[in-house]
This record gives sequence, C-alpha cells and structure tokens, in this order.
Amino acid sequence: MAEQTSGQVVKAVVVGGGISGLATAHALSTTHRIEAKVLEAEPRLGGNVRTSSRDGFLIDEGPDSWVANKPHATALCCALGLGDRLIETIPENRRVYVRMDDARLVPFPDGMMLGIPTRIMPLATTPLLSWRGKMRAALDLVLPVGYGKRSSDEDEALGDFIERRLGREVLDQIAAPLLGGLFTGDVSTLSLLGSFPQLAALEKQGGLIRGALAMAHKAKAHAKPGAPKPAPFLSLRGGVGELIDTLAARLGAAVVTGARVESIEREGAHYVVRHGAGPAIRAEHVVVAGPAHIASRLLSPISEELGRELADIGYSSAATVFLAYAKKDVPHPLDATGYLVPKKAPGEPLASTWVSSKWPFRAPEGDALMRIFFGEADVDRTDEDLIARATREVRTTLHVTVDPKLVHVARFRRASPQPRVGHPSRMQRLQRAVEGVPGVHVLGSAYDGVGLGDCVRQAEAVAARIANVR
Ligand SMILES: Cc1cc2nc3c(=O)[nH]c(=O)nc-3n(C[C@H](O)[C@H](O)[C@H](O)COP(=O)(O)OP(=O)(O)OC[C@H]3O[C@@H](n4cnc5c(N)ncnc54)[C@H](O)[C@@H]3O)c2cc1C
Repeated sequence: MAEQTSGQVVKAVVVGGGISGLATAHALSTTHRIEAKVLEAEPRLGGNVRTSSRDGFLIDEGPDSWVANKPHATALCCALGLGDRLIETIPENRRVYVRMDDARLVPFPDGMMLGIPTRIMPLATTPLLSWRGKMRAALDLVLPVGYGKRSSDEDEALGDFIERRLGREVLDQIAAPLLGGLFTGDVSTLSLLGSFPQLAALEKQGGLIRGALAMAHKAKAHAKPGAPKPAPFLSLRGGVGELIDTLAARLGAAVVTGARVESIEREGAHYVVRHGAGPAIRAEHVVVAGPAHIASRLLSPISEELGRELADIGYSSAATVFLAYAKKDVPHPLDATGYLVPKKAPGEPLASTWVSSKWPFRAPEGDALMRIFFGEADVDRTDEDLIARATREVRTTLHVTVDPKLVHVARFRRASPQPRVGHPSRMQRLQRAVEGVPGVHVLGSAYDGVGLGDCVRQAEAVAARIANVR
C-alpha cells in the first residue's frame, strides 16, 4: 500500500479518459479501494463522448444513449447518483423510417428486432419489399439450420448470413442499413459472431423468424399486463457527457488531462509510463483503454505478438452534421427517431436521426434538432460541403425550404471498430497475447461489444482482475 501514496509509483495507470478508462478507474477506487492514475491525451475527457450546448440545443456529437437491456451503463449511472437523471426515448416516436430511392419516407415494419420480424403482418404488408422479396424472406421458416453457408467455419459475414436466411432484398433494404449502420460498417466484411451473435443463436432455434417470434412471445408472456413497452435506449438529461463529468468529478486529481502517453516500458515488476504532462509513472498494472490502434503502438515494444493482434483490428470513420429548424418550417411530421438510407449514392448520407423527436430536453420548445450521418467515404469533405449535402437531404426528404438556424459538424476518424469475419478467434489470440504480459490490460469498443454498456462491463471486469492479483 505504501506504493500508492508515493507520487510517481501507483498500483495502476489507465491510458485514456474515455468511458472505458474512467469507468475502470472508478471501479478500481470504489469497489476495490485501489487508486489508479488516468492519463488522457486531450485537454478534455470523454473520447468519443462529446456533449456540448449551443443556443439552447444539447448536442451529443458521438453516442447519445446506450442500449437499455445492457445494464452496466445504467447501473453505473445509478451508482453515481444519476438515477433520476436517466431519460428514455419519447414513446410515441419510437418508429423508424426508410428513405426510398424517390426520397419518400416509408415506415420500417413494426415489430422488427435487429432487422428480423417478430410479427408476420407488418412484414407481409411493407412496401419496402417486393412480393418476391417477401416470399424469399418467408423461406427462412423452412430452411434448415446452416442452409447455404459457404464455409464450415463457425463465423461468417453478417451480410452472407442475412442473405442466406432472408434473401437479398431483406439484406439490402433492412438489414444492411440497420445493422451495418450500427457499426458504420460494411455487412459483407462484418463478423456475424463479433457483431450480432444473438442472430446466430436465433438460427439454431429453427430459423431467424421462428427464433425471433419465440423470443417476442416469451417477452410478451413475461410482460406485466398493461405495462408500457420498455425503452430500447436510455440516456441522461444532460447528454451522455453528464456521465463523463460525474465520473471525472468523483475521480478528481486521479485524472490528468493533456497527458498523452508516449511509451510504456517494462522494468522489473513495474511498467514505466512516459507521458506529456510530467515525470514518468511506475505502475504494477497498465490499462490501455481506447482504440486498438493506439494500444498496438504503445504495447508493441512490450509484446510484438500483442501489438500485431491489436493492429489487425480495423476501424471506420464517420462525420455527422447537426441542423436545427423551427418545427413549423418542417412540413414532414417528425414522428420517429429518424430514417435509414438503404441505397445511398456517393456523397449521400447513411441515415438521419431526429434528435428532438427521440429525446426530451435536446432543443428549445418549438425547434427541431436533427443529425445527418455520413460514412467513411465522405469524412474528408469540407464542412461546407457536408453542410450543403445535409441541407439538400433535408430539403429533398422533409421538404424544408428555409436555411437551418444552427449547423454543427463533427468528425470521428478511426473511431468505430470493425469486428471483421474471424473476430472471435482474433479475440482468443488477443486474450492469449494479453495473458502473456501480466499486468497489461486492454479494453474498449474494439474487443467485446461496441457500445457504452459493453465498455462499462469490460471496465468492471478489468478492475476485478487487477484486484484479484494484488
Ligand atoms: C459517432 C459515434 C456514435 C456512437 N454512438 C453510440 C451510441 O449511441 N451508443 C453507444 O452505446 N455507443 C455508441 N458509440 C460507441 C461509443 O462511443 C464507444 O463504445 C465508446 O465511446 C468507446 O469509449 P472508450 O473509452 O473505449 O474509447 P474512446 O472514447 O476512444 O476514448 C479513448 C481515449 O483515449 C485517449 N487517448 C488516445 N491515445 C492516448 C494516449 N496515447 N495517451 C493518453 N490518452 C490517449 C483519447 O483521447 C480518448 O479520450 C458511438 C461511437 C461513435 C464514433
């Protein structure tokens, strides 16, 4: 314990002050009474979480929420005293549109679970699919498990999987924009088991539709009669940044910003962490919490094998444009969370979310805030170009003829990890490589789930591992 009181020798150094790093340090100090130093390269904390306010609008540039049925982020908020700050998506707007080629917005069929129907009628009647497409989707009910699988390997591309079960139309019109969009990725290379392992499990229950129907039936049977449907996503009244600010306040002086870690070296039983904000720190444990490409650069000198496995994890980039209008100037009803764009032409957005229809407290009364997403191919366009494309999209799709009252552009370069086919075995190799360097830990969205809840879960697991080897 003497080590912990000495300025430059600590039990654990955490590299990165995003949600993963801050949640690790919080779990170490509260659950395990271990003080850790968090070193963050930038002057601000949060990493991908970037919340700001402008002219009465609350802007979550990166994540604006987390999946409600992954409990760890919610539990962390409650533990931090933020339970009464939690908010749900506005119930009456919990629908999604799909933008057709002619810019019409068509409702996404009701009762879809990750793009898989849990009700037959909405699928049978949707204008999103031709009759041929619907018949092909229905074949899923009779196709044997593993039908059409190209290889005997357990994993396969998410796109191949959806196509062999439900057909090309469901893939193009529903699954690719929805599921690929969640990763800002390409379904032809995304790993089924690394992205949506629950879909692979559904196939084993006699097909995707049968599995999804059974799941929906079970959920209905367990639901309290008359109880409102649980919210699919949760957030905080002040945006996701409220979680970061609260964690930072609790951790106090344990967090140092402007402290870019330049190198990590092994010296006897310790790691020596050199950073840009003061003398080197010696620690028994180093936790690299953030993008795998950063972890690769920092850890390669300690373990070539670990560095190689980390470098093998790909990332994609994205840009988002926020636009605000007076609601009275938007002729299309803003009665959904937004829309997906299945067949996007070059330079067109991937999707749009209607922030103020999704969340309360995000825009002044009478105003609408929307967010237009652009993918990897468009991230290097100038702000002016992106804004022009976003406003053209709003004009065409929502028939808005006035200029926006607020514009705001945000870019995320190499920020969205891409679990490519073979992800589970890559993770096993990575885990073996990490185990080969005791005292080194990696966590974040690249490894075991991409969402905020996944990061908090991993943070708690890393903290427990550090506590167990004390
Ligand atoms: C546009 C976008 C939208 C998203 N939307 C959602 C959503 O709605 N819901 C959801 O659950 N998830 C969402 N995600 C995913 C979510 O943002 C991530 O899972 C999460 O933020 C990852 O946090 P992290 O702490 O692991 O990494 P990061 O947020 O990347 O944080 C890593 C930190 O490490 C710092 N750092 C890097 N190098 C060094 C160094 N050498 N020394 C010190 N510090 C360093 C960085 O500055 C950064 O602050 C979204 C992601 C993006 C990009």
